[in-house]
Amino acid sequence: MNVSPKQLTQAPIVLEPNRVWRFYDGGKMIDRFKGLANPKDSLFPEEWVGSCVQATNPGEHFKKGEGLAIIGSGVSEPVSLKSLIEQFPEEMLGPRHVKTHGANPAMLVKLLDAAIRLIIHAHPTKEFARTHLNDCFGKTEAWFVLETRPEVADPYVLIAFKDEVSCPRYKDMMLKNDIDEMMRVMHRVPVKAGDVVYVKAGVPHAIGEGIFMVELQEPSDYSIILEQMCPAYTFRQEECYLGLDPDTTLSVIDHRVYTPDEVRQELVIKSKVIRKDGESAEVQLLGYDTTECFAGHRLDVKTSFSDTTDGRGSILIVLDGEGKLVHNRGEIPLKRGVELFVPAAVGTHEFLAPKGLTVFKCLPAQA
Ligand SMILES: [Zn+2]
Repeated sequence: MNVSPKQLTQAPIVLEPNRVWRFYDGGKMIDRFKGLANPKDSLFPEEWVGSCVQATNPGEHFKKGEGLAIIGSGVSEPVSLKSLIEQFPEEMLGPRHVKTHGANPAMLVKLLDAAIRLIIHAHPTKEFARTHLNDCFGKTEAWFVLETRPEVADPYVLIAFKDEVSCPRYKDMMLKNDIDEMMRVMHRVPVKAGDVVYVKAGVPHAIGEGIFMVELQEPSDYSIILEQMCPAYTFRQEECYLGLDPDTTLSVIDHRVYTPDEVRQELVIKSKVIRKDGESAEVQLLGYDTTECFAGHRLDVKTSFSDTTDGRGSILIVLDGEGKLVHNRGEIPLKRGVELFVPAAVGTHEFLAPKGLTVFKCLPAQA
């Protein structure tokens, strides 16, 4: 049954698969998570969930429209989530959100599965984006580890400097492509399923090989490439510095030296239960007490659990189990891998799952 665009905004929206080309190998775990036949790694290691962000892949790899989430079910013609939000911002995102952020969901959600260690990079802050990129979003991000590959014995991420590194010295390492030294001056943090890492804009970082995660970010695709050669691609200079003068761009890199304790306390985030109903619970994995940029919660549904949109749009990813989502206009079957955008206008809705269900809930920047 096809509904009008306006009616679409009154019920949770099922999103189509949305894999994005990147310059590194991975994605087998996403294939498996989605129940696809013959899971394999490829240069489509990310799924952008409910995205209104254009992917800015370098050079000939740029493809207009890549990254934008598509709505395919319940409509006669596929339509982008972005265009629906632009048509009905208040129904989709809520009036308060629109007043603060405009017709922008103010978050970017990805499933990311890296087969190899990713290159060391960093992202601009909001202030930098405002001054130099004519954008109100930088790219603070957070990693929610879902699984690590069994064949990887010591899954890890690299984050922040552990040593004093002057700007000239760091530039020198970059020019010489001295990867060992670039890795040595960073914290190597072991990670496992369930861990949450907060990556403030400006902080240098890299994901180690074999990590499958939900990545929650400010809605942009700006990366400052610090390690400029990787197996699938060697970056041209103009692709590394956001199209700006290198020194200007490198000035946003956060050279603060973190102690191991500071990493554990400030960058590795502890979860807490924020709501319970019988055996069901909503767990805050990372909340607005860490950053105003987004929040990530997990809904652990045992039998039934109700939730409300609280006047803002959200993105859901079913992590495990099966059941259904009952809302004012009907119901949607849920199983591992299903992705939804829940418009603000939906209000109260209920998860029913006699056998249990785990749902990742992404909330946008605070309004
Ligand atoms: Zn990053």
